[in-house]
Amino acid sequence: MRDLHQRLDLCSINTATLGHRLSIHDTLDAVARSGFGFVAPWRKEVEAANLRDVARQLRALGLRLSGYVRSTFFAGSSPEQFAAHIEDNQRALDQAAELGAPSLIVVGGGLPPGTRSLADARARYLEGVARLWEYARSVGVGITLEPLHPMYAAERSCVVTLDEALDICHAVDPGQTGGLGIAVDVYHCWWDRHLTSHIERAGRERRIDAFHVSDWLSPTRDMLLDRGMMGDGVIDLKGIRAQVEAAGYAGAVEVEIFSQSNWWQRDAQETLQVCADRLQTVC
Ligand code: ZN
Repeated sequence: MRDLHQRLDLCSINTATLGHRLSIHDTLDAVARSGFGFVAPWRKEVEAANLRDVARQLRALGLRLSGYVRSTFFAGSSPEQFAAHIEDNQRALDQAAELGAPSLIVVGGGLPPGTRSLADARARYLEGVARLWEYARSVGVGITLEPLHPMYAAERSCVVTLDEALDICHAVDPGQTGGLGIAVDVYHCWWDRHLTSHIERAGRERRIDAFHVSDWLSPTRDMLLDRGMMGDGVIDLKGIRAQVEAAGYAGAVEVEIFSQSNWWQRDAQETLQVCADRLQTVC
């Protein structure tokens, strides 16, 4: 496993970690100033600025992207809205290409309103991924499927395990031709008793595009906005990273924390400093 001590150049900040309070320009400056080599910007922050200016700033700062965050919840849309979602995500792929992102993070959505069939939602998820992957290849960007914790199955992602995401990758791209993979986010998969075999399979199939860290607070007070700083919770962070890297992953270690009542209340510089310390000590 890589030693992250003095290696923030291997680490990334997902901009949600700072609570979406600063402009994207101020956020990129702060992330670079703190010594991180990578950043994962959110689309809504980029769209509040000028795309070319953001791309130029990234180049000037020498910051690389660990991903572009994220797709819309296309599987959870009505049949009438589905096509519009696909088109909208194609625009996100265009932006990802201009920013130099390796891939668009796909969080595909849960159940369409008023429905109860997870099987139908998963079929639409697969259909959406197939269409987006085709477009992604034409613009030279990848697609990274991020399965979420099962508590989000209704609203955010009907795909909840790494294994399930890998099955979708296989169905869409059986020849492993590239540009289609998964994100291993410890917050979403730490509980899974099959995690080790899923990570090994992802490595064998060369599908690990991204690795996200935070921590699971016990107890957790909010399903969405109470993620912990690495080291403050119960996830075996070093153990999971060792498995992911043994499976061949050599990309960025990305911090992604949604924390309304704690980290989002703090000064961005302080949050970045604590992220840097914890990455080097407990991850
Ligand atoms: Zn994540």
